[in-house]
Amino acid sequence: MDKTDLRSLTLKELTAELEKMGEKQFRAKQIYGWLHQKQVTDFSEMTNLSKALREKLKEKYTIKNLKIVEKLISKEDNTIKYLFDIGDNVVIESVLMRYSYGNAVCISSQAGCRMGCTFCASTADGLERNLLAGEMAAQIYEIQKDIGERVSNVVIMGSGEPLDNYDNVMDFLEIIHSGEGNNLSHRHITLSTCGLVDKIYDLARENLQITLAISLHAPNNLIRQNTMPVARRYDFDSLIKAAKDYADSTKRRVTFEYALIKGVNDSEECARELASKLRGIMCHVNLIPVNDVKENNYIRSSEENIKHFAGILKSLGIETTIRRKLGSDINAACGQLRKSYKDKVEGVEGLNLTL
Ligand code: SAH
Repeated sequence: MDKTDLRSLTLKELTAELEKMGEKQFRAKQIYGWLHQKQVTDFSEMTNLSKALREKLKEKYTIKNLKIVEKLISKEDNTIKYLFDIGDNVVIESVLMRYSYGNAVCISSQAGCRMGCTFCASTADGLERNLLAGEMAAQIYEIQKDIGERVSNVVIMGSGEPLDNYDNVMDFLEIIHSGEGNNLSHRHITLSTCGLVDKIYDLARENLQITLAISLHAPNNLIRQNTMPVARRYDFDSLIKAAKDYADSTKRRVTFEYALIKGVNDSEECARELASKLRGIMCHVNLIPVNDVKENNYIRSSEENIKHFAGILKSLGIETTIRRKLGSDINAACGQLRKSYKDKVEGVEGLNLTL
């Protein structure tokens, strides 16, 4: 049987585990501190534990570490893209973005994805596996170690659908936020979902101070269904209602992400329809110039068009920003590095995504 990953346990779980082993409670705090404050990667580094206890821990647990396989540094803006091996030849990716306010990291929540959005490289080979809470935290710890600086903001916007890996993501949010650990404020964390409506309601009940981002990418169900299969399971209006209920109950402004694809979702009518659907919701729209996807003939809207689209939304009272593109010289978009790496290793012809 696989050993339990020690880094994936919340402090409460760790305390219960140590009690079962006949150890005192404070030992749990010590171990948790080693893992999440000092961020060690091996039992041998937990030097204030007796050798006997370390041996006992090793018998029952493992620490699932990530290994950097590739690291690409953008010459344009210091964005760094990491490809991590999480064991058994499974790779995931994370991106470090440098902003004036600090270091933001985009982490993956799954290896691959099963949501099937037609514009997204992460989903091309389906879902490989869910990530454990500790594997999400380790992406941040490894990057902090690599750059020798603290990560101040986290977006769960890499490969995977976080609400499709709900329990592990909730454990991750608790672990990364814990004052006994890495101590990152929930206000500095954004979770991005393609819109699993039931899970949005579950998340609202957790009443966390995180920002919820919803990948909308369309002003109605017809257009949304063309690019996002999830829209066949949860229709547009129920998603918008869930977003409104989420904002109302958590008092947190929701972000709608909207990747503009030429001729698909970027017309003036689309902008007007979107504004009418979002009226009355405490929200903000983030327009994303789509990364071209050749086999679907998805081409990025022109800069002029994106500005025009933003202008219409703003004139209709919807707060709107246009996402600045970072790291475009290093395949920094969702799933692209992992995909090209897998194709290289497995000898499959690539999806041929270009930026
Ligand atoms: N599953 C989650 C998080 C991962 S995707 C979600 O859907 O939100 C992170 C963001 O990148 C999403 O908004 C996704 O729609 C967007 N994205 C994926 N492929 C893209 C592409 N080719 N161009 C622009 N944005 C893309």
